[in-house]
Amino acid sequence: MALGDDVLRLLDEQSRDWPMLAEGLAALGRVRTRAMALPHFSVRLQCNPRRIVSSGAKTDAASIAERRCFLCPSHLPGDQRGIEFASRYLILCNPFPIAPIHFTVPIMQHVDQRIAGRLSDMLELSRGLGERFFTLYNGPRCGASAPDHFHFQACGTGFLPIESEIEFLVRRYGMEDQPAVVAVRDPHRPFYLIESTSAAEVERAFELLLLRLPRRDVESEPMMNLLCWWLGDRHRLVVFPRRSHRPACYFAEGDARRLLSPGSIDLGGVVVTPVESDFDRLTESEIVSMFTEVCGESV
Ligand SMILES: [Zn+2]
Repeated sequence: MALGDDVLRLLDEQSRDWPMLAEGLAALGRVRTRAMALPHFSVRLQCNPRRIVSSGAKTDAASIAERRCFLCPSHLPGDQRGIEFASRYLILCNPFPIAPIHFTVPIMQHVDQRIAGRLSDMLELSRGLGERFFTLYNGPRCGASAPDHFHFQACGTGFLPIESEIEFLVRRYGMEDQPAVVAVRDPHRPFYLIESTSAAEVERAFELLLLRLPRRDVESEPMMNLLCWWLGDRHRLVVFPRRSHRPACYFAEGDARRLLSPGSIDLGGVVVTPVESDFDRLTESEIVSMFTEVCGESV
């Protein structure tokens, strides 16, 4: 697992020679967390004020056009170094980490966040990094703070509650769908699980699934979040179809406002709350509502 070792070495070096990352990791070490047992799965709230940049990000076309893209290779901070993957991507340490091992993996050209034709890259990245990592993809209106620049993320395994709950959820709510696909009909957080030893089979199953998921118009992709693992002998892909970008509480006024802008990590069970008072006040029923509002109605 040379790539996995290389990126961990990069993280180790960059945490010593890049002050911004050192500060990000130190801040992550101080975050408060709170466990919540929801009716069907568990969640860990993470009070992470530095994530306000991402959770509060304006992702409309005009705001995006005004800012300098932070994922373009020519705009990276001077101290930031990366490892090339597949001659097309850079693996970079995330200076605003949610997990202690947290990388951003942008493609080297400035092209839109759009998964079509790139799932094979995600499967190859997961396999290349090995079993100590998982990879994720946030759709352009599903948690990605740079919807104008294609990127994946990669984190260390053992971080997301869903990792240890997936077999239980499949037993309890799973229904055979198409070959290699199980529809997991959890009423609050439905998803599809695609598993195969063959990357080509996962890609085929994913393409068929995309044809069935609702989309706003012919141009845009279905709203979704993806989590991907290499399990040593097979690929595992979780597809969360989405209904909405942000829950209603995000747009509420005054005391009712909760800054929740879920992406793949949140849907995997680590819900990031950048605002301290949200972290202190959020109830289990508010979190259940967030999941039912943003996740797909039916799988
Ligand atoms: Zn860019």
